[in-house]
Amino acid sequence: MKKIMKISNLFKEKKVVYSFEIFPPKVNDDIGKIYDALSDIKETRPDYISITYSAGGSKNSRTKEIAEIVKKNYGIEPLAHLTCINSSREEVSAALQGLKDIGAENVLALRGDRIDGEVKTDFAYASDLVEFIRERSNMDIGGACYPEGHPESANMVEDIRNLKRKVDAGVTHLNSQLFFDNDDYLRYLDMVRLAGIDVPIQAGIMPLVKASQFGGIVKMTGAKLPSKISRMYNRFADDPTALTEAGIAYATDQIIDLLSSGVDGIHLYIMNNAYVAKRITENIQPIIDKLNCVAKNIKV
Ligand code: FAD
Repeated sequence: MKKIMKISNLFKEKKVVYSFEIFPPKVNDDIGKIYDALSDIKETRPDYISITYSAGGSKNSRTKEIAEIVKKNYGIEPLAHLTCINSSREEVSAALQGLKDIGAENVLALRGDRIDGEVKTDFAYASDLVEFIRERSNMDIGGACYPEGHPESANMVEDIRNLKRKVDAGVTHLNSQLFFDNDDYLRYLDMVRLAGIDVPIQAGIMPLVKASQFGGIVKMTGAKLPSKISRMYNRFADDPTALTEAGIAYATDQIIDLLSSGVDGIHLYIMNNAYVAKRITENIQPIIDKLNCVAKNIKV
C-alpha cells in the first residue's frame, strides 16, 4: 500500500514539486472521461493531483469521489479543494468528514466565488475555513495566492496582508493563480517573502491550447495577456493544431524560466487534457529530475 503523504513533506524532500489540477465533470456528464485521462496522466508521475470543488458555482459532489480514485486506483496523492463562502458550518463539516473518511491528508482551503442568491454567512474568507479545518484535523492545508493581486483587492499590499493572515491561520503551502508573465510572478514572490510569508509556493501555469480558453477561464481570472500570447492567439486561433503546439511551447518556456529562477514548484492547470500534460512533462521532466537529484545530494 502507498504510504500516506503530506504535501509539506514533498517540499522537504524535493527542490521542485510538480503537480496537476483537474476538475470533476459536470454532474450529468460521463465520469469515465476523467478516469481515461487519469490513466494516461498516471505515467507522467506528478507529485500530486489537485481536484477542484464546486468551481463556477455548481454544487459538485464529485471531488471526494475522484480524490479517492486518484489515491487508491492511480497511486497518486490527491489534494481535494474545498470552498466555504456558499456553505454553512454543517455543510463544510460534512465535506471535511468525507475527506477524512477517504484518508485524505491534504486539502486546499478556498473561499470560492460568490453565487447570486446564496446568502450563507458562516465563512467570509478562506482564512476562516483554514481556522475551521485546523481546529478539527491535522491535514496539510493549502491556500490560493494571486501574483497579479486578487480581483477584489484594492491593491497588492492589502492582498498580501490578507494572505499573511491566511497563512498564519495554518496554511502549509500555497498554489498561485495562473499567470503568463514570469516577471510579475517573481516580483510578487519577493513581496510575499518580504511580508514574512515563508511557506512553499507553487507557480500556477495554464497552457493555452484552445481558442475558447482565451475568452473563458483566462478572462474570468483577469490574468494579463503578454503581447507574445496575443500574437499567438491572433495567428493560430482558427488552427487548433498550431494553437495547441504553440501553447505547449509557451508553457514549456515559461516553466523552464521559472525553474531557472528557483521556484518551489509548478502546478499545471491541465484542464483534464492528458495529451498536453504528457507533452509538457516530457519537455521539463529531465530538468526537474536533475534539480531534485541535486537537492538530494545537497541535503545528505
Ligand atoms: P480569500 O483568501 O478569502 O481572498 C479573497 C479576497 O478577500 C481577496 O481579495 C483577499 O485579499 C480578501 N481577504 C481575505 N481575507 C480578508 C480579511 N480578513 N479582511 C478583508 N479582506 C480579506 N474556486 C472554486 O469555486 N473551486 C475551486 O476548486 C477553486 N480552486 C482554486 C484553486 C486555485 C489555486 C486558485 C488560485 C483559485 C481557485 N478557485 C476555486 C477560485 C477562488 O475560489 C476565487 O479566486 C475566490 O474569489 C477567492 O478565493 P480565496 O481562497 O483566494 O479567498
